[in-house]
Amino acid sequence: MSTIERELVIVGAGPAGVSAALWARSRHLDVLLLEGAGAPGGQLAHVHFQPREIVGWLSGDGPALAMAMTRQLAGAGVPVRYGIRAEGLTVDQDLTLRLTGGDRIRARAVLVAAGARRRRLGVPGEREFEGRGVSFSATLDRERLAGRPVVVVGGGDAAFENALMLAGLGGEVTVVVRGEVRARREFRERLAAERKALVLRQTHVVAVLGDERVNAVRVRGAQGVREFACEGVVVKLGVSPNTEWCADVLGLDGDGFIRVDAGLATTLPGVWAAGDVTRPALAAVPVAAGQGALAVAAIRSAVRSA
Ligand SMILES: Cc1cc2nc3c(=O)[nH]c(=O)nc-3n(C[C@H](O)[C@H](O)[C@H](O)COP(=O)(O)OP(=O)(O)OC[C@H]3O[C@@H](n4cnc5c(N)ncnc54)[C@H](O)[C@@H]3O)c2cc1C
Repeated sequence: MSTIERELVIVGAGPAGVSAALWARSRHLDVLLLEGAGAPGGQLAHVHFQPREIVGWLSGDGPALAMAMTRQLAGAGVPVRYGIRAEGLTVDQDLTLRLTGGDRIRARAVLVAAGARRRRLGVPGEREFEGRGVSFSATLDRERLAGRPVVVVGGGDAAFENALMLAGLGGEVTVVVRGEVRARREFRERLAAERKALVLRQTHVVAVLGDERVNAVRVRGAQGVREFACEGVVVKLGVSPNTEWCADVLGLDGDGFIRVDAGLATTLPGVWAAGDVTRPALAAVPVAAGQGALAVAAIRSAVRSA
């Protein structure tokens, strides 16, 4: 077990954490960036198209942008530890982060930039058939799904938007909603007008079935357990924040996102949060990066005036 002292430890090297680390470095804070994965970028690993609204980013997909972040961190000399997760946060005189492997780091300030992950169904067959019919984005997999019978799982805007796109491509679409539909009225009405679209409410997917590829889903609803033949399953259940490890010490909202004030301070003195983990009004790279920068401005004032 080792103990390292830092002015600022940043948890998560997605856009929020990387931006914060660069700002911290240029403001001469003694910073360490921790990332559970083997490289920075966070959700950018899943962005398989060119994001067009990121100022200064002219060409390249999410992984290319993540690669640019790797070079930027190295160029700025930011100390980063990859493959290390924060597993707990305790408070006594200082803040102590407990890490993978039992290491601990004491810090004057902690910035949580741990982001979010897509929610999964968690049923048999989902992981087995991922990439073989199970998709998390109809946009991304539109060529493979076009014109085929597809089950879309979820009741929000994203699920209905995906269902509308697939219906527009000529396929039969069944939308399976666990509870009630939350998608905006416009999407509901447009889908209701599609001849080959069906919405099943109060229905749970209990298994994804197939052999080489997906060929059906098993659902349980008011009419008991049934199977629907399909060639694709698009899972659109929203995202969950990566806050399980700090949930016992930070104030969270009902869905587990970190509550912050206008300066991105959490309910725990010495701890700030930035990016998707705070449930911003817009979950996007520039917002995460901007929050990372703002949080560092507040942290620097707090640390240096202490
Ligand atoms: C398919 C898709 C398309 C998108 N398209 C766009 C787009 O076109 N334009 C746009 O601006 N945005 C887009 N986004 C959204 C954008 O990617 C996110 O808003 C942004 O990545 C959020 O950054 P973040 O740093 O807050 O979190 P994340 O990107 O989620 O990064 C968090 C990081 O923290 C790490 N981490 C988590 N827990 C721990 C822990 N306990 N210890 C150590 N490390 C931890 C994770 O491994 C991850 O690397 C898209 C997202 C997706 C999924």
